[in-house]
Amino acid sequence: MKHIREQEIFADIVREPGAKQATIKRLIDTTDGADRFVLSLFELKPNGSTPPHYHEWEHEVFILQGTMQLILPHEERTVQLQANDVVFIPRNEPHGFMTGEDETCQFLVVAPTERPPIRNYFLSEEPYEFKESVSSPVTEKQAKLSAI
Ligand code: ZN
Repeated sequence: MKHIREQEIFADIVREPGAKQATIKRLIDTTDGADRFVLSLFELKPNGSTPPHYHEWEHEVFILQGTMQLILPHEERTVQLQANDVVFIPRNEPHGFMTGEDETCQFLVVAPTERPPIRNYFLSEEPYEFKESVSSPVTEKQAKLSAI
C-alpha cells in the first residue's frame, strides 16, 4: 500500500518534442508496483502545451483546476476544458493540450503502464521548452520521457 501527499511528489518537466511549460507528477507509477495503470498529475503553466500526438493507448483525463484547450487536429477544432471536466481519448485519436497566456491547468491522467515509445507519434519536431520556476522542485535525476 502506498499513501502519500501529492505535495511530497516531485514534479518533472515534460520533455517530449514540442512540450511547453508542462510538468508531470507521477502519483502512482510502476516503481510503486503498479503493473496495469499509472496515475499522473500534469500541470500546464501559461502558454503551455503538450503537442498534438497519438498512440496506441487511451487517456482518461480529469480536470482538477484551471482551464485549457483540448486540441483535436484531425477534426480541426479545439474544446475548452475546465475544472471537473472528464475526457476520454481513445487509442490512436490525435490530441494535444494547450493553455493561453492567462491560463494554467492541472489535470489527472490515467494511462496503461505499457506505452511503447515506438508507437508514440508526435506531430511536432520542436524541442521541449520550460522557463520559470515550477511550483514544486524538479530534479534532473527524475527527468525521463513521460510518454503522455
Ligand atoms: Zn497522449
